[in-house]
Amino acid sequence: MTMMVAEEKDELKLKLKEVFGYSTFRGNQEIIIRNILDGKNTFVIMPTGAGKSLCYQLPALISDGLAIVISPLIALMKNQVDQLFGYGVNARFLNSTLTKGEITRLKKDCVNGVIKLLYVAPESLTKEENIEFLKKVNVSFVAIDEAHCISEWGHDFRPEYRKIKSMIQQLGNLPVVALTATATPKVQLDIQKNLQMEEADIFLSSFNRKNLYYEVRPKKETKKQLIKFMRDNKGKSGIVYCLSRKKVEEIANLLSVNGFKAAPYHAGLDPDVREKNQDDFLNEEVDIIVATIAFGMGIDKPDVRFVVHYDVPKSLEGYYQETGRSGRDGLEGYCLMFYSHNDLNKLEKFNKDKSVQERENARILLQEMEYYAESPVCRRRQLLHYFGEEFKEDNCGMCDNCVHPRERFDGTEAVVTVLNAVKQTNERFGLNHLVNVIRGIEDEYVKSYGHFDLTVFGTGSDEDADFWKSVIRQTLIYQYLDKDIENIGVLKISKRGEAFLKKPMPIELARDHDFTTDAEDEEVSTDRAPVNAKSYDSALFEMLKSLRKKIAKEKNLPPYVIFQDPSLEEMATTYPITKEDLASVNGVGMGKVNKFGKEFLELIQNYVEENEIETATEVVVKSSVNKSKTKILIIQQIDKKVDLEEIAELTHLSFEELLTEIENICYSGTKLNLNYYLEALIDPQKQDDIHDYFMNAETDSLDAALNDDSLADYSEEEIRLMRIHFMSEYAH
Ligand code: ADP
Ligand code: MG
Ligand code: ZN
Repeated sequence: MTMMVAEEKDELKLKLKEVFGYSTFRGNQEIIIRNILDGKNTFVIMPTGAGKSLCYQLPALISDGLAIVISPLIALMKNQVDQLFGYGVNARFLNSTLTKGEITRLKKDCVNGVIKLLYVAPESLTKEENIEFLKKVNVSFVAIDEAHCISEWGHDFRPEYRKIKSMIQQLGNLPVVALTATATPKVQLDIQKNLQMEEADIFLSSFNRKNLYYEVRPKKETKKQLIKFMRDNKGKSGIVYCLSRKKVEEIANLLSVNGFKAAPYHAGLDPDVREKNQDDFLNEEVDIIVATIAFGMGIDKPDVRFVVHYDVPKSLEGYYQETGRSGRDGLEGYCLMFYSHNDLNKLEKFNKDKSVQERENARILLQEMEYYAESPVCRRRQLLHYFGEEFKEDNCGMCDNCVHPRERFDGTEAVVTVLNAVKQTNERFGLNHLVNVIRGIEDEYVKSYGHFDLTVFGTGSDEDADFWKSVIRQTLIYQYLDKDIENIGVLKISKRGEAFLKKPMPIELARDHDFTTDAEDEEVSTDRAPVNAKSYDSALFEMLKSLRKKIAKEKNLPPYVIFQDPSLEEMATTYPITKEDLASVNGVGMGKVNKFGKEFLELIQNYVEENEIETATEVVVKSSVNKSKTKILIIQQIDKKVDLEEIAELTHLSFEELLTEIENICYSGTKLNLNYYLEALIDPQKQDDIHDYFMNAETDSLDAALNDDSLADYSEEEIRLMRIHFMSEYAH
């Protein structure tokens, strides 16, 4: 059994490299995949860009049958399927854009089992005829992407999502995988309840996106600032979010007039135009998309280098999702927000027709936004705190508040005052009331609760309300206070806070940014975040990029489907000139090499010759890394039923050496199917004889077999091959 485990482990890694070209799993991917392969209900919460898709795509390939993927946006299904096509995976989609004929063919392919992943829109799933047809298909599991659409507390509620559970129940008792980037506890609970998967294994990843730089600037001379920012980022791909359609048009126009390749995107555009603009962005015909929040969910463009919020977003949750669309490939992602109180007031006005409860909820969300923008605390720490995660480092080095820290003061006494105020009012009040108590303001609440009698009352009267609000928020973010989950807005003392009250330790606080005064008061930092110096050959990188664009155009695919930026950067570092070298680049597997590799190899080859660059292939280094690469290559080739002679040639091994390698692979627990080769080489009668020998022998020793009389007529090669075959079949 131990062999089994080793084999599975290798197999997952091999599949990852072979199909997706990655050599390691990210974060929780591997245990999630195992959980799915074990047929368990699985709930995956991972930030945008962390790699959720792979969590269901890989098990779908390994599992018997077809995996159904429910995804909310019809417009993006094609994109997902294209990406998988790039990897050589047979995935398709079922939605209302297909013709009758296409649907008939699709259904046939599903029943025949040639399709591994079927993307389905929730609307299509609710159709009787589709359910009837899916009943006939062998389904491995159901994945529900963007599962937060189930919850009214999420930022993208879709009523049809609530019907999913009853639909898939009709298909039998299938394992369900729910995936989302939304982590607030309320939404989580909602999803689990609705999908009746309270018992599911939950995999919650850290929400820290280390490569994203967060910055908030006052909204003054915004157009000038924007143009300057775009000049600094010319040629890079980015998104500018605006609140209204009108603003989208205006800014898209402004950017175009200033010589940037920008296009608008909002729900008011003609669907054809909208789709074209989105495609142009994905295909790099356009660098910048200026959009309302209608744009973005499910957009998997990995090389978005910046996200600008021209207007203040409605919630931190939305802000986090939108900024999360930058830097998915792990490279630079610059998140810039322009902020003003005026925007908050505008947003507040939008809510005036809503019910009292809705208005109150929206107001609380806006308040969080305001705190975030004005706070002097590390942006990363604040965002993570919002999602219930503690960021422990003092300086993240990747946000404006850390790179340009605000002046600090000793806040020990102020924190003691705040904690006392919370304690003396019995942990039953929110921020505004606490501020009034501290400042000694006798309003009706203070009067009706008799809080003017408290010893803390009025002890902070020498500072203004904004000061105390800021102190309370910092006390909360540093976790001396907790939010009461049951009663929104109510603050309680945490364990850390209790300890602090007993024995106060010096604590530094900073004053909030002041966004109410004129721009000139606030120093506008135009310094950019520290961006790692490029270590790759940028000339080659640019050439590779243009080639990628050209091929993408020919094949009518988005460029990143061909190769992603990190892969191109690696190529421009290691100069691969053989298929094998190329396949070992992260993000590139043999599948992609065969599909797209030829022209890239030619380009690199020429480049290397012209510039007299010494490549890895010429410097033959025999290391364990190369050895394991050879092993992987052998396994992949056998998987593809390539003749052993050819594999020997490919790996620069003699046939003898190859056999030894294969034996090693086999004895370290990996199953190899050599049937295809044996069939052509050894006749069935002979095969049976050798097979019988090993079946009955006391030992699998090769020497013993070679010396056994019953096998006297067989060559060493035949015996060795049959022994491998036998071990693969029975020993694992
Ligand atoms: P999510 O759905 O969580 O927002 P995606 O599934 O779209 O994220 O993945 C984001 C990016 O991460 C993609 O460009 C994908 O190719 C890349 N990626 C996923 N898994 C890995 C991995 N194991 N190694 C390297 N890159 C990965
Ligand atoms: Mg996704
Ligand atoms: Zn920071």
